[in-house]
Amino acid sequence: MASPAASKPHVVLIPYPAQGHVTPFLRLAKALHARSFHVTFHTEFNRARLLRSRGAAAVAGADGLPPPGQPAELDATQDIWAICEATRRTGPGHVRALVERLGREAAAGGVPPVSFVVADGAMGFAVHVTKEMGIPTYLFFTHSACGLLAYLNFDQLVKRGYVPLKDESCLTNGYLDNRLDWVAGMIAGVRLRDLPTFIRTTDPDDVMLNITMKQCELDAPAADGILLNTFDGLERAALDAIRARLPNTIAVGPSARRSRRGPLGPEREDGRCAAWLDAHADAAVVYANFGSITVMGRAQVGEFARGLAAAGAPFLWVIRPDMVRDAGDGDGEPLLPEGFEEEVVASGSGRGLMVGWCDQEAVLGHRATGAFLSHCGWNSTVESLAAGVPMLCWPFFSEQVTNCRYACEEWGVGVEMARDAGRREVEAAVREVMGGGEKAAAMRRKAAAAVAPGGSSRRNLESLFAEIAGGVQPVINPV
Ligand code: UDP
Repeated sequence: MASPAASKPHVVLIPYPAQGHVTPFLRLAKALHARSFHVTFHTEFNRARLLRSRGAAAVAGADGLPPPGQPAELDATQDIWAICEATRRTGPGHVRALVERLGREAAAGGVPPVSFVVADGAMGFAVHVTKEMGIPTYLFFTHSACGLLAYLNFDQLVKRGYVPLKDESCLTNGYLDNRLDWVAGMIAGVRLRDLPTFIRTTDPDDVMLNITMKQCELDAPAADGILLNTFDGLERAALDAIRARLPNTIAVGPSARRSRRGPLGPEREDGRCAAWLDAHADAAVVYANFGSITVMGRAQVGEFARGLAAAGAPFLWVIRPDMVRDAGDGDGEPLLPEGFEEEVVASGSGRGLMVGWCDQEAVLGHRATGAFLSHCGWNSTVESLAAGVPMLCWPFFSEQVTNCRYACEEWGVGVEMARDAGRREVEAAVREVMGGGEKAAAMRRKAAAAVAPGGSSRRNLESLFAEIAGGVQPVINPV
């Protein structure tokens, strides 16, 4: 007789191995687990990285995790090109092996049969394997709807001759300022430079350009549905345009841990940040963090430092140990401008706190945080919107430039800074954003409503759960 566990729907989650992908997948895993679904969360690399960044509590409750093995060796910034190329080449075999192994375990009564797969849009190749095995499969694109819409138009950009670029001068001669009025669903006046930076190539065989087009043209249409960590009230036009091509696209975000404003709660993991923030007035602090991948040169760090110091607001600045990359230059020299640490950070004045990593959502949710200097990664953007914190946008790569454009032009919650922003620009942007968070506060209320009972994203998530629960469980023949 089947054990009660054997009758549970079994969902396999396959996130792409990068922090910004693991976080929303883990939230989905927790939501599924809370509904008593059996969850397998792949992979070991992800688990080790997550445990080290967020602590053991981050994965508690996610059923079916593989036992810890060797720690992943990378905390360093990741070579996204190499990972994309390698996962696309070797991934299908791994996905098949994983599902077959789970099939053997199910046959032995260890786990329920795999009944549903949610794979990362960046691992879209998985859909062909799992569908062939008869398993319903959704793709979860962890970026914005505006970002996905831009990626869906890469084929048109190629067909219309915009991409690849004729030569490298196109990067600097104003070519990227060309406006595109034909992209249905995009904000008016969108320019080439607002589209994901993977179009900035002169090589028709560019890895990211081609992988992205495969994900959009081959993988996404083969999936049973598409999930996005956004909400209808935020990106309705982009979502409608995506649905014209991928009808079963549902917005289930923002998947934020919390959106309240108050002192850091018991989940806090960085006592230093919490204590420091507690000592500041409401909305007084600028929080600067460029995510898990961004790198910048020493000169740019210096400009941010001087700009933050000149603006006068207290700041909490996260500099990952691997964030600053200057090929050979400046080795052995101090990272920060002379006198900066003594005057601003170490003086006991409380003006600045610098750490290597923090619990970002806790910081954004703290009443003292008044602005977020960000690279506009989608998780950071969504977490900022959910917390009602206005942004200083310094996009680094990929669809971060698209997110920046939307944050500044469409949602009115951000101020854009140039890639080579100098200290004066940084100072001016801080002064402009601090204290002007009305639109961000309104966005926070909209975001909270979307995930509250009866809200659009909550209803979409409920119908996804119903689909998973009601789905016929295919029998996976053990090999
Ligand atoms: N994050 C964090 N602490 C840090 C830096 C990042 O908790 O010091 C989390 C952040 O909350 C977000 C994710 O890591 O959920 C970064 O994802 P995002 O899409 O913003 O950027 P990426 O790292 O992919 O560039």
